[in-house]
Amino acid sequence: MSKYWSSLVNQLQPYIPGEQPSMTNITKLNTNENPYGPSPLALLAMKSLLNQDLRLYPPPSADHLKETVARYYELNADQVFLGNGSDEVLAHIFNGLLKQSEPLLFPDISYSFYPVFCKLYDINFIKIPLTDDLSLDLKNYKRANGGIIFPNPNAPTGRLLPLKAIEELLKENQHAVVVVDEAYIDFGGQSAVVLINKYANLIVVQTMSKARSLAGMRIGYALGSAELIEGLERVKNSFNSYPLGHLQIAAGIAAFEDKAHFDSTRQQVISSRDWLSDQLKILGFDVLPSAANFLFVQHTHKSAEIIHDQLRDLGIIVRHFKQPRIEEFLRITVGTDVQNRQLVSALGGLLE
Ligand SMILES: *Cc1c(COP(=O)(O)O)cnc(C)c1O
Repeated sequence: MSKYWSSLVNQLQPYIPGEQPSMTNITKLNTNENPYGPSPLALLAMKSLLNQDLRLYPPPSADHLKETVARYYELNADQVFLGNGSDEVLAHIFNGLLKQSEPLLFPDISYSFYPVFCKLYDINFIKIPLTDDLSLDLKNYKRANGGIIFPNPNAPTGRLLPLKAIEELLKENQHAVVVVDEAYIDFGGQSAVVLINKYANLIVVQTMSKARSLAGMRIGYALGSAELIEGLERVKNSFNSYPLGHLQIAAGIAAFEDKAHFDSTRQQVISSRDWLSDQLKILGFDVLPSAANFLFVQHTHKSAEIIHDQLRDLGIIVRHFKQPRIEEFLRITVGTDVQNRQLVSALGGLLE
């Protein structure tokens, strides 16, 4: 608290990101980064820009990247919105599309940034509980609302909704915007992007941080009808005209064009996820089915917090949320084969 802060700032409860430790020899399985790294073409594209031309402002709407993304998803460039990470894209969506008189709906167990944005923009919301097995049942969203947002696959559970259920919701909710946060969709789900030209109320949010392994570059985007995208451009151009720098734009274009790297690395993550899931089950964990690059697990008799702390002492960091309903779960990012084997052997020792 400070008398110099606005009353809004005095009331904020900021998002707490997973830690980014400075120690080097650590096995970091806590923030869902992709362990294989960005496309070498993206690195080259950035290196070629390290010169005096960085004195110039970047193109404010990053049209070349917009066109690349549009082509990839078979949309028009005016159906693409770009931002400094999808967190920024989400912020503009909350501010520009989800602040309505009826409450915004989202799952009780979900991306914990959503309630933070609601506080920041003074948006009225209702949390809809996941079912007992931590599934998202969209039937529970049939009520008055000023918008709906959920991740698919959901975070931190990893559970995936089929496209059919999402289309059902879009049909019934045409009075308000439905946001599908697809941060993890490329690890095994079917994207709702194919529904965009059919439903003007749909916004799909994606990021280059996870499957494209560019979390450090901060590139996110939203895809939707030109009408919704124009609304977001109005917010962006009232906030920061240049959310993406020259390096981000170049990295984004190159990463989208390197489909071979994208496909091979995400396939590796998917097959490692299946291996890790089997190993964790053998060690006595219940493992939720995951379509993401992480597993959400609960041990049959040992406390999640203790496992988390003991792993940490061994240099392995996983994520534990001290939150009702999920305090006995751990969220474990799928790492390289070496990291996954190291985790399994450490757990084998702890659980003996
Ligand atoms: C990681 C993540 C994001 C944010 O990604 P950035 O583009 O790195 O800001 C958004 N939504 C969900 C559900 C995520 O897990």
